[in-house]
Amino acid sequence: MKVYLDYSATTPVKPEVLDAMLPYLKDYYGNPSSLHSFGRENKKAIDTARDQIAKTFNAKPEEIFFTGGGSESDNWAIKGVAAALKTRGRHIITTNIEHHAVLHACQYLEKEGFEVTYLPVDEDGLISVEDLKNSIRKDTILITIMYANNEIGTLQPIEEIAAIAKENKIIFHTDAVQAYGHIKIDTQQLPVDMISISAHKLYGPKGVGALYLRKGTKIHNLIHGGAQERKKRAGTENIAGIVGFGKAAEMAYENLEEHVQHLTELRDYLLDEILDKIPYTKLNGHREKRLINNVNVSFEFIEGESMLLSLDMVGIAASSGSACTSGSLDPSHVLLSLGLSHEMAHGSLRLTLGDQNTKEEIDYVLEQLPPIVQRLRDMSPLYENIKEGVR
Ligand SMILES: *Cc1c(COP(=O)(O)O)cnc(C)c1O
Repeated sequence: MKVYLDYSATTPVKPEVLDAMLPYLKDYYGNPSSLHSFGRENKKAIDTARDQIAKTFNAKPEEIFFTGGGSESDNWAIKGVAAALKTRGRHIITTNIEHHAVLHACQYLEKEGFEVTYLPVDEDGLISVEDLKNSIRKDTILITIMYANNEIGTLQPIEEIAAIAKENKIIFHTDAVQAYGHIKIDTQQLPVDMISISAHKLYGPKGVGALYLRKGTKIHNLIHGGAQERKKRAGTENIAGIVGFGKAAEMAYENLEEHVQHLTELRDYLLDEILDKIPYTKLNGHREKRLINNVNVSFEFIEGESMLLSLDMVGIAASSGSACTSGSLDPSHVLLSLGLSHEMAHGSLRLTLGDQNTKEEIDYVLEQLPPIVQRLRDMSPLYENIKEGVR
């Protein structure tokens, strides 16, 4: 059996999405900026996708700007506002557990003379709203806090954060790449100024994203060049990608309730069974304030990488916050921010579910995982001590 449980890394393109895209890779090749019919047709297709995405946010189409993905949207939001408001202030507030697209953009700005406050999180991965209030200064120009964390699934108190930003007249950006498609975000209700999203995290194609930009938000361009995206993001549009993104977004929000119910049930089943069946195991992230598709657990006495390799051998695709998977020697900055020891961070396993997963697949994982954990623990000298009662 093959079981894909890495939907937070990326998702497959839905067949309906691919069908919507194909004509734009084949027959409709005109440049949307051209005046002839070849171009005009494609301009229309982009406008349709813009409408589809605007609708999911209860926003105006002119508030949606297509980009080359979630990372670009994050970089644009942060660097663009910093550039536009640098004469007003040079202080930015974010958190310790952001995606690297946010963290590294902030670190870049620090080298350029900006000051950044990185809010800590508690053991569940939540920021403190009091900390946020206390960190606001006269020269704070931007608050950027993610909606849902990609590793541990924790959902931040976004309504409260947005209200605080608005009260203090500070621009608020949220990286909603993981939340989008799982949670309804209504820009008429939520006073958020910028939202980053990405197509490939919700059954759309890779390499296309968008930034929701509330009307009137001051921002400089990141990509300079032609007049595309109403002069805010240059470059000939990724038409097929944009069309696919529009279709994927529309489908996600058409079936939202069903999707939420299906995934919440599977997630709870998987999570409860793992915690129940395997001793010396700890949940990472908040139990309730959590993405509907995220399971993240740490197993004492074992390494994430060896677990991933063993799971892969029986056809199960997962991910880990341990060193090798992240391409650096340190374990995940997110897990360490929760206060986990290096050992527990190294022993983490992230299983992220998607629409295609079934109860049978979860049962297969629950059958395969416990013996794998046991076998790896049997090779661990630390576990040997536990068995002998040394700890
Ligand atoms: C995947 C992801 C990104 C980056 O999006 P890309 O489209 O892959 O560039 C940014 N933020 C979060 C939270 C993500 O999960």
